[in-house]
Amino acid sequence: MIKRYLLLLLTHLVLGTVFAQIQPCGTDEMRKQLIAEHPEILQVEADFEKQIEAGMRRIDFGRAAKTTAIDQTNNESFWYDIPIVIHIVHDYNVYNTSTFTGDFIPDDFIFNAVKEWNMVFAMQNGDTADVIAPFKKWIGNPRIRLHLATRDPLGNPTKGITRRRSYLTYSAGQLAKFDGWPPTSYINIWFINRMSPGSNAAAYAHYPSSVGSIPFYDGIISLAEYMNKGSKTIPHELGHVLNLSHLWGDNNQPTVACGDDNVDDTPPTKGHATTGCTAASIFDTTCSRNYFKIYTDDLGNIELVNYPDTNNSQNIMDYTYCDKMFTKGQARRMHITLNSNIAGRNNLWDTMNLVATGAIVPFPDLKPIPDFTVTHITGAGNYLAKNANFTFPGRDVKFTNYTTNDTLTALSWTFSNGAAIPVSTSVTNFNNSFAEPGWVTLTMKATGNNTGDSSITWDRALFVADKTGRNMADGYFQEFNSGGDREKWPLFNYYNNEFFWQPASVGMYDGNSIMYKGFDERVTATAHPHTGSPKGDFDDMFSIPVDLTGFGSTCNLNFHYTGASRSSLSGSIADSLYIDYTINNGTTWVSLAKLGKGALFNKGAMNTAYTPTSITDWAAKTIPLPAAAITNYTTFRFRYKPGVSAAGVSSGNNFYMDRINFSPWAAEVSTINMDKINVAIVPNPTKGDAFVLVNDVANTNVHVTVSDITGKVVYTIEEPVKGKQARIRIPSATIAVQGMYLIQTLTGNQVNTQKLVVY
Ligand SMILES: [Zn+2]
Repeated sequence: MIKRYLLLLLTHLVLGTVFAQIQPCGTDEMRKQLIAEHPEILQVEADFEKQIEAGMRRIDFGRAAKTTAIDQTNNESFWYDIPIVIHIVHDYNVYNTSTFTGDFIPDDFIFNAVKEWNMVFAMQNGDTADVIAPFKKWIGNPRIRLHLATRDPLGNPTKGITRRRSYLTYSAGQLAKFDGWPPTSYINIWFINRMSPGSNAAAYAHYPSSVGSIPFYDGIISLAEYMNKGSKTIPHELGHVLNLSHLWGDNNQPTVACGDDNVDDTPPTKGHATTGCTAASIFDTTCSRNYFKIYTDDLGNIELVNYPDTNNSQNIMDYTYCDKMFTKGQARRMHITLNSNIAGRNNLWDTMNLVATGAIVPFPDLKPIPDFTVTHITGAGNYLAKNANFTFPGRDVKFTNYTTNDTLTALSWTFSNGAAIPVSTSVTNFNNSFAEPGWVTLTMKATGNNTGDSSITWDRALFVADKTGRNMADGYFQEFNSGGDREKWPLFNYYNNEFFWQPASVGMYDGNSIMYKGFDERVTATAHPHTGSPKGDFDDMFSIPVDLTGFGSTCNLNFHYTGASRSSLSGSIADSLYIDYTINNGTTWVSLAKLGKGALFNKGAMNTAYTPTSITDWAAKTIPLPAAAITNYTTFRFRYKPGVSAAGVSSGNNFYMDRINFSPWAAEVSTINMDKINVAIVPNPTKGDAFVLVNDVANTNVHVTVSDITGKVVYTIEEPVKGKQARIRIPSATIAVQGMYLIQTLTGNQVNTQKLVVY
């Protein structure tokens, strides 16, 4: 039988504006954003609201509709078991369980928080005793039991917790929703360190009507601080997931205007700020004086229900932090939602789903999952990153245990590379140092509480630099060829994502260079990444320690580069290459240069992944070194920070470097003006004549030998040095074949061999 209801509602509009600095919830704002991107959501919402209204009418009259096997809407004793998964998006910031700061939330704290949430959803939270008299009879029992899943989507055993390290924990939004499990099978709840700038919300969720077509955003994202701070932030957000609105409605801020949430036993209200836990708020009658409803059915039966004439400020869907209750109407609204197929909510508690997710089996005892960080102890020198670090021989670094998934009874750490402590049994943290250069191998063996051992080995736990600086005065070029020493220029993708330094199989002339992969393969004209963003990322390449003392007081860092941007708007290109050096084993890093826009992207904007195709694509860069950098043990760091143009999309494309060297001359020098002994070949690369520039105070003869790649001598010449300088021509006819040549220059003082490239 169709029933209609008539709503009589007296409202008192009172204008006033009080904005809290931290909003407990950003759900309304996110709803608006999703509707702006997907206006069709409005229709879905309207249709779903009709379903809800139809269901609400049934409870208003207490006349149960037919209950089917799968529809438990009117079963007043049915409990809804729901699998959940907790995603910890972190940067290894230890979580303080008293102040709730940090982001690496321990397992036990999570287990306890879930218990607390479940108290609320079983109406067992003790503070319902403090609910004011008018609302005691309206306290509702949601009859919901949340269960950390014990099976992941692949059927593997789990404790229903995932952990992922990401810089997005410091600037989190939709793109930080990593590792989401199917939201029709699990409710996903992400915890992060900070929301993205501009959001002052503690948490937010999405209504089921918003996410049916955008499943990867479905769920809750919350500051780690609010997991279980005392306020009921997560139960509030779960209310949104199950289609509860704020008491004052969806479309305004609290405390602004009287509004309603389409739940009859929550009287109209303006809502209250977080500071509203006062008698004035709790007994606030604004908007709700003389609040009653008259219901009539098709037979003409009329019923008047006199609801409380005060606001339900202690409701979990208000913003006061004295939130204690859901109402019966809210519980009903959640139950109707759980019996709807909207966004698959009715699958969550389906028996088959509970079996597949292992939601109602005993919680498993699983082996520990070893994990660690390594950090510098003092003078961190801009090392924001933890793990996969770079250090110097003999320098202490700190190892910290981040093992999870089980209670530890023992832990053993085993190191290579001449570790001062080859084996440690610390279960917390300790300092260690390494005498030998190269990658350090670390094995962690964790013994769980009656679950046995689990062991993980990292082959690249840490890189130790060479003990002495390599002499750069002999014509050293880093060309990233396999035969060279490129392995001593370690690359770090600190956050293990898709933007990082990597060897490239294309070079200025020899098929090898180093590339920063900034092109985001996940972004096309019609698709964008659901999770992840370059914003906040940084990745390092370190040089071999160099000895520059052979150059006297003048020396340049030279390299060739080529790159393209993704964005064609110059103002949107935000990629940067920071070049820094250290002369004190990484205690301090000194800025040498910051390159961006045209200094990185000489090829303009491209929509496809950029790969250079010609030697003419490459440009030369020369950065003069300050005197302080010219030591016998200087190390350079190339830190790339990929930029973001809009909506989390990368602004950069691929960037390449090649032929890094140190020289008194610029990368493409055409004049010589020196007072030291030195040799340069210019231009290099060339497509015509080349010149050997020699500066030699001894004024002896210079002998130049040109060999091709096979070692065959193709040209020799001997010329005197006059006035300390010589400029010796290598005719283009003698180097007519494209490729690489070796130029050996013999003076009275030195032998110098350098490569010359002809294209
Ligand atoms: Zn909210």
